[in-house]
Amino acid sequence: MLNIVIFGAPGSGKGTQSEKLAEKYGLQHISTGEMLREEIATGTGLGQLADSYMSKGALVPDAVVIEMLESLIAKQKDAKGFIFDGFPRTVPQGEALNRMLGRHGEKVMAVLSLEVEEEELVDRLLKRGEISGRADDNRQTIESRLKVYGRQTAPLKDFYQEQGVLKEIRGVGSIQEIFGAIAKEIDPLTTS
Ligand code: ADP
Repeated sequence: MLNIVIFGAPGSGKGTQSEKLAEKYGLQHISTGEMLREEIATGTGLGQLADSYMSKGALVPDAVVIEMLESLIAKQKDAKGFIFDGFPRTVPQGEALNRMLGRHGEKVMAVLSLEVEEEELVDRLLKRGEISGRADDNRQTIESRLKVYGRQTAPLKDFYQEQGVLKEIRGVGSIQEIFGAIAKEIDPLTTS
């Protein structure tokens, strides 16, 4: 199975590139942010809990997200592979993902880290907030999310570097250019 993690700060383009990856390589796109927003939209208990964190720009607790993902993966046994978008976001989530995949004899093959400078991230998120009206794309929440990213999520880069799967990709340029750089890293994994 081709299991890929796409990693990067809020606004780095994870969602956009994930969709292209899913299409090109026939992977199942798993976005924990989207899953949580759906829970909020349908008004479930999980959604209410998630909203109380997301609206502040904080992370939803590890145990909640890990359980949500575990039940999803268990249902998708026939997938050719997964593209994990927005998960893992903490080292404990990274460890949980390794365990989950390990149970099926699988592992993370590549971690694509989209590198974008902070000023550009803020611009993109503010613009997205105007267009899509996503509740957490406002100046105050953006600031918290970027801080949370630096403190809780960025340490995963070392975690994956040590496992020899980290690939840094410049996340500035046209969508097509960035995808070209990504495909260059992923193509060799599909021919072996
Ligand atoms: P972005 O990368 O732009 O912040 P996401 O849709 O990936 O967008 O995430 C939105 C919010 O959903 C996060 O700020 C966080 O509160 C919550 N969330 C998403 N994925 C996770 C996760 N793996 N662990 C904890 N919280 C998460």
